[in-house]
Amino acid sequence: MITRVGRPWLDWRSWRSWPQQLLRLWRESLQFRTVAITLGLSGIAILLTGVYLSLSVSNNLFQSRLEQVLLDSSRATSSAQHILDASDATDRAAVQAVLTSARISINATSSSRLSAVFLIPGATSAVAPQDFASPELRNGAITPELRAQVQQNPDEQYWQSVELPTGDGGTAPGIVVGSQILLPAAGAYELYLGYSLADAENTLLFVQQTAFIAALALMLLIGAVTWVVVRFVVTPIRVAAETSQKLAAGDLEVRIPEKGEDVIATLARSFNGMADSLQSQIKELAELSEVQQRFVSDVSHELRTPLTTIRLAGDVLYDQRATFPPATERTAELLHTQVERFEVLLGDLLEISRYDAGSVRLETEPTNLVHLAEDAIDSMRSLAEKNGTEVRLVAPGGHLSTELDPRRIRRIVRNLLGNAIEHGEGKPIVVSIDSTASAVALMVRDYGLGMTEDEADRVFDRFWRADPSRQRTIGGTGLGLAISLEDATLHSGRIEVWSSPGRGSAFLLVVPRIVGVEPGESPLLLPPEDAGALQPAQEGRRDDDA
Ligand code: ADP
Repeated sequence: MITRVGRPWLDWRSWRSWPQQLLRLWRESLQFRTVAITLGLSGIAILLTGVYLSLSVSNNLFQSRLEQVLLDSSRATSSAQHILDASDATDRAAVQAVLTSARISINATSSSRLSAVFLIPGATSAVAPQDFASPELRNGAITPELRAQVQQNPDEQYWQSVELPTGDGGTAPGIVVGSQILLPAAGAYELYLGYSLADAENTLLFVQQTAFIAALALMLLIGAVTWVVVRFVVTPIRVAAETSQKLAAGDLEVRIPEKGEDVIATLARSFNGMADSLQSQIKELAELSEVQQRFVSDVSHELRTPLTTIRLAGDVLYDQRATFPPATERTAELLHTQVERFEVLLGDLLEISRYDAGSVRLETEPTNLVHLAEDAIDSMRSLAEKNGTEVRLVAPGGHLSTELDPRRIRRIVRNLLGNAIEHGEGKPIVVSIDSTASAVALMVRDYGLGMTEDEADRVFDRFWRADPSRQRTIGGTGLGLAISLEDATLHSGRIEVWSSPGRGSAFLLVVPRIVGVEPGESPLLLPPEDAGALQPAQEGRRDDDA
C-alpha cells in the first residue's frame, strides 16, 4: 500500500512526534530506509577509521618527539659536562659559578627551558653548590622512581611522561629526561631537563578536527549520493505501485511508461501486458454477462405471453375443479399453484434483469412508513393466520412522512414479513419502526428457525436458500432478498441481518429521510435487544390495534 503519496516527509513543527514520524518513514519509505542504513554503516566504518588514524598519528607524533628530546638532552648534557670538566674551581663560589654557566650552556644548546639539578644524596662535599629546579619541575613532576634510576646508573639516560603546569594554571603533557653530570670538585649531580609536548598536542588536535570535519562532509556526501541513486531506482517502483493500486481500484486504462531496456523497463512491459490481458478478459466477461442478462430478460419476456395463456386456461380448469374426478381436481389445483409460482418467478427475474440493465428509477413521494407497514401487515394477514402467527407492530417513531418509493419499500416489507412468517414457526413476529432526523428504520424480528452465521452471510445472494427442500407455502424463488437489497440500495439505504439458529432472525431496513444522502446511524440496532429470547416480550401493539 502506498500511503506516502503527497505526504510531507517530516512535520518539523511538531517535534514531539518526531520519533513516531521517523518510525513511520522507516516503515513506509524504502528510500529513507536505504539512506538511513547506508549512513549508519558508513558512519561506523568512518568512526573506526578515524579512531585508528587518530591513535596512530598521536603515537607517531609522540615517538618522533621523544627521539628528538632524548637526542637534544644528551647533546646538552655532554656540552655541560665539557664545561664542568674544563673548570678547575675549588672554592664554593667558583664551583657554583661553573654550575650556573653549565646550566646557561644547557639552556642555550637545548630546546628545553626547564631544568633541575640535584646533588646525589650521600655525596657530601663542603664546596657542593645548592640544588636547583625550575618552578615547573618542582612539586612532584620528577618522581622518586625516575630519581632512583638516575642515581643508580651514571651513564644512562632515563625519561618519563609528565604533566607540566602551564602559565594559565592548566597543565600540558611533557617529557622529563634525567641523567648524571659530574662536578670534579663537588661530586655527581642528577640533571633533569623538561620538554613540553604542547606543540605536538596542538598538531594532534588540528589533525583530529580536520578529520572530524572531513568525516562529516563525507557522511553528507554519502547520504546525498545514496539519496539520488535510490531515487533513480525507487521512483519507477513507486510509479508501478501507484499504477497497480489504481488498476486494483478498477481503473483499467492506467499503464506504466515504458522507457529503456533495463529491468525496470521489463517490469513496466510485463505489468502493462498483464493489465492489457486483464482489461480484455474483464471486457469479455462484461460482454458475456451482458449477453446473459439480455438472454434472461428476453426469455422472461418471451415466456410471459405463453404463460398468460397457460394461466387463463389453468384458471378455467381451476374454477371448474369441483366437477372433475378427485385425481383431476388435485391436478387442476397443482397446476394453479405452480402457474402462480411461475408468474412470481418470472416477475422477479424481470425485476432483477431491469436492475442489471440499470434501467430502474425511483418514484418517490412523501410516505408514512408506519402506515405503509400497517398496509403490508394487513395484506399478509391471511398468510399469517394460516401459519398461526401473530404480527405485532411497535412504532414509537417514524410517523413523519419520508420521501420514499412506496411500491419498492412495500415490496421489501412484504418480503421480510413473508420470510419471517415462513420461517417463524408460528411464533409472534415483531415489526418495529423508529426514526432519527436523517434516517428511518424498520426491523422485522421473528423467533423461528434462524440461520447460522454462514447462512446469514449468503442470505442476499441470488437464488440462495438455506434449505431448498424446506416446505414452501408462498412459493419463494430465492430472489426476494436480492431484490429487496437492490431496492434499499436504490434509496441509498441498506438492509442488515442478524440471525441465530433456534433464536430467530432480525432484518433491519434503514433508509435516509432525504434520497441520495447517506442515512448514517440507524435508530434501531442489530443484534436486537432481545437477541437471546425465544419469545417476544409481552408489551407492544398488536397489528389489530394499530
Ligand atoms: P425466498 O424467496 O426463498 O424467501 P429470499 O431471498 O427471500 O428467498 O430468502 C432466501 C433464503 O433466506 C430463504 O430461502 C431462507 O432460507 C432464508 N431466510 C430468509 N429470511 C429468513 C428468516 N426470517 N428466517 C430464516 N431464514 C430466512
